[in-house]
Amino acid sequence: MAKFKITQQREKCIGCGACAAVCPANWLMDDDGKSTPKKTELAEEGCNKLAAEACPLQIIKIVKLK
Ligand code: SF4
Repeated sequence: MAKFKITQQREKCIGCGACAAVCPANWLMDDDGKSTPKKTELAEEGCNKLAAEACPLQIIKIVKLK
């Protein structure tokens, strides 16, 4: 059962790669130069917190589900 939801305002992504650098477990750089989360619903927050903090545009959010 997922407890965390990862959101990204992907249209704003500048493709800097910071999220994928600090959290390769859940972020990859896609062919269009923007990053994409591998999973958007997770049981553990994991390194996604680092990815959210590393993003210069602050477009990655982690929502804790009930
Ligand atoms: S850190 Fe932010 S701007 Fe950089 S690739 Fe990831 S989502 Fe895009």
